[in-house]
Amino acid sequence: MHIPAELAIQADADLKEYNTLGVPSRARYLTTVDSTALLTQALRFAQEAKLAVLVLGQGSNTVLTRDFDGLVIHNQLRGVEVLAETASHIELRVAAGENWHQFVTRAVNQQWFGVENLALIPGLVGAAPIQNIGAYGAEVKDVITAVEYLDRTTLATQTLSNDACQFAYRDSIFKNALCDATVITAVQFRLNKRATLNLGYPALADEAGEQPSLASVYDAVCRIRTQKLPDPAEIPNAGSFFKNPLVTAEHHQRLKSQFPGLVSFATGEGYKLAAGWLIDQAGWKDKEVAGVRVHQQQALVVINPAIRSGADVMALAAAIQQDIARIYNVQLEVEPRIY
Ligand code: FAD
Ligand code: NAP
Repeated sequence: MHIPAELAIQADADLKEYNTLGVPSRARYLTTVDSTALLTQALRFAQEAKLAVLVLGQGSNTVLTRDFDGLVIHNQLRGVEVLAETASHIELRVAAGENWHQFVTRAVNQQWFGVENLALIPGLVGAAPIQNIGAYGAEVKDVITAVEYLDRTTLATQTLSNDACQFAYRDSIFKNALCDATVITAVQFRLNKRATLNLGYPALADEAGEQPSLASVYDAVCRIRTQKLPDPAEIPNAGSFFKNPLVTAEHHQRLKSQFPGLVSFATGEGYKLAAGWLIDQAGWKDKEVAGVRVHQQQALVVINPAIRSGADVMALAAAIQQDIARIYNVQLEVEPRIY
C-alpha cells in the first residue's frame, strides 16, 4: 500500500488527545489536514486502501469504545472569510477546523449578534451543524445559511442550504441520511449587526444584568458554564451524555402527578423533560461505576477522571438508562456519537 508522504500519516496513533473523555484508544492511521487538497488526498488514500474513515474535531461529542482500524482524519482547515455585508447583517464562511468558542468571541468583539448564547461550547466549527449545537434557548441552525462538505465517496464538493440540512433538536441530516458520509469543510453564517438578544432562559436573563448587552450576555453564559460544567481539560467528559427526552402530554401528566417536582417544558407537541433532573432524582448524582462517575453539579454529565475505557463509560450510561426506564418509563437517548 502506497502512503502519500504529504499526509504525514502516523501509524498506531494514540487517540487520547483527540477525545475529551480521554479514553485510551488507538487508530491504525491518523492524519491532520489543513487544506481541502490534503483532505481529498486523505479520503482518496482511504478509498484505495479500503480503510474506514473517522473524522474528528476536538472529540468533545465522541465516545471511542474500541481501537479504530482505519484512518482518523483530524480536521484543521482554518480561515474566516466575509461573503457579504449590509447595514444590518454580515455573512461569513468559517472553515471547519476553526475553534467554535474563538469564533463566538470574535463575533461578540465585532458586535455581531446571534452566537453569544453558544459561548464556551467545546469543539470545532465543522461539528456545530452535525448535532445543531444549542444552549440557553439558542440553536446554531438559526444563524447557519449553508454547510459545505466533501462527499466521502465521490470526493465532490457540495453545499447544502439551511433547509436541506434538516435541522432539529440536537439533530440534522448529518446524523441521519448523511451520517459519516461527508467531511464538512466550512459553515456559512448570517449574523445580525443590530441588537437582538435571546434572553428566554430565566437563568441567563438573571445573570446578564438589568441592561443586558451583547457583552454582558456572553460574559453571563461564560460565567454560568464555568461554575456548573466541568472543563474537559481538567475533568475528562463529553458534555451532556443524554438528550432531554420528549414525551406526550398524557405521559407528562402521569409523571407530573407521580413526581410533582418534575422539571419539564411544553414544546407545542408535547413536553421536554430535563434529563438531568430525572437522573438526579433517581439518585445517580456523584455515583461511580468502575471509575466512571456522574458529575456532582450536573447529573447529565458523565465524567471520566480515572481515565477508564469507552466501554466502561457506556456501561455506566446503560445502567442509568435502565434505571430511568424502570422509574419513569422514559428511554434516554445517548447524545454523543459512539464508535
Ligand atoms: P467531535 O466530537 O470531534 O465530532 C462529533 C461528531 O461529528 C463525530 O461523529 C465526528 O465524526 C463528526 N465530525 C466532526 N467534525 C466533522 C467534520 N468536519 N465533518 C464531518 N463530520 C465531522 N453541545 C451542545 O449542543 N450544547 C452545549 O451546550 C454543549 N456543551 C458541552 C459542554 C462540554 C463540557 C462538552 C465536553 C461538550 C459539550 N457539547 C455541547 C457537545 C460538543 O461540544 C458539541 O457537540 C461540539 O459541536 C462537538 O465538536 P467536536 O469538534 O468536539 O466534535
Ligand atoms: P439548565 O439551565 O440547568 O437547564 C436544565 C434543562 O432544562 C436544560 O437541559 C434545558 O434544556 C432545560 N431548560 C431550562 N430552562 C428552559 C427554558 N426556559 N425553556 C426550555 N427549556 C429549558 O441546564 P445546564 O445543564 O446548566 O445547561 C445550560 C445550557 O447549556 C442548556 O441549554 C444545555 O442544553 C446546554 N448544555 C449542553 C450540553 C451538551 O453537551 N449538549 C452540555 C452542557 C450544557 P435544553 O438542554 O434543551 O436547553
